[in-house]
Amino acid sequence: MRFFNSSYCGRFAPSPTGPLHFGSLVAAVGSYLDAKFNRGKWLVRIEDLDWQRTVPGAAKEILYTLEALGMEWDDTVVYQSQRTKIYQDALNELNQLGMIYPCTCSRKEIADSSILGLHGPIYPGTCFKNRLPVNGAHSLRIHTHNHPILFYDILKGEYSQKLNSEVGDFVLRRADGIYAYQLAVVVDDAAQLISHVVRGADLLDSTPRQIFLQQSLGYYTPQYLHLPVVTNALGEKLSKQTHAAPINLSRALMQLFLALEFLGQEPPNEIVDGDIASFWQWAIGNWRVKQIPY
Ligand code: GLU
Ligand code: ZN
Repeated sequence: MRFFNSSYCGRFAPSPTGPLHFGSLVAAVGSYLDAKFNRGKWLVRIEDLDWQRTVPGAAKEILYTLEALGMEWDDTVVYQSQRTKIYQDALNELNQLGMIYPCTCSRKEIADSSILGLHGPIYPGTCFKNRLPVNGAHSLRIHTHNHPILFYDILKGEYSQKLNSEVGDFVLRRADGIYAYQLAVVVDDAAQLISHVVRGADLLDSTPRQIFLQQSLGYYTPQYLHLPVVTNALGEKLSKQTHAAPINLSRALMQLFLALEFLGQEPPNEIVDGDIASFWQWAIGNWRVKQIPY
């Protein structure tokens, strides 16, 4: 019999673009430990909406690796590719509020007309200003405002962004029909009653977009904790694009040990000579958010 703290529900939401690597392992371990330390639930969601980036078999491999590392999820795994109807419903709701408009700009037009902001090109709202009848391929954007969106990250503290001037109106459905990460993540975090989002700091600057969508859809805002991002010797974020090595399960305990150390925890060296169960017992009992470097 397990007792859950019903006010904590966390999640790990990998994109199945390849096997788990050390960077994604750190996000998995951090979200798992924070949930378990707080006696909460920990869910896994496969973010496989972008079929051009999804690698067949990768989701299965990620789940297998998590299991082999002793990280058990507390409810059925959710696949975003099976949930497009609920993203469309949310989009319809925003459309009824008059917030959505079609955009026919090509990549090149956007690159030529935008200012490059800190978070990428800032869409200047061309298609919002001259609303033309559209037929043919178009993306759907949400019209943003410029009141600062402020939140407190558990680790990094106060963070604030003015969406319209710093990010611009952003895409919720691409011209190829794929629902954008920003929309899907917000709908799913709400549908799964996620209370705490623990993930890599590369997503810190996406959070105000997500809070804006939550506010527009009448959802609550979860707590956020953004973990340090693992980089390689060149200072690049570990990812499939930077050819990060997959987690080697023959050295499972060592990988977990290194992930824990990366998160600023101080596991005793002998822990790698034990078994996975005693590793987690130590790691959960000794989880200290304050020690995570940021
Ligand atoms: N699927 C996203 C990624 O792998 C993470 C989404 C999230 O944690 O909000 O980068
Ligand atoms: Zn446009």
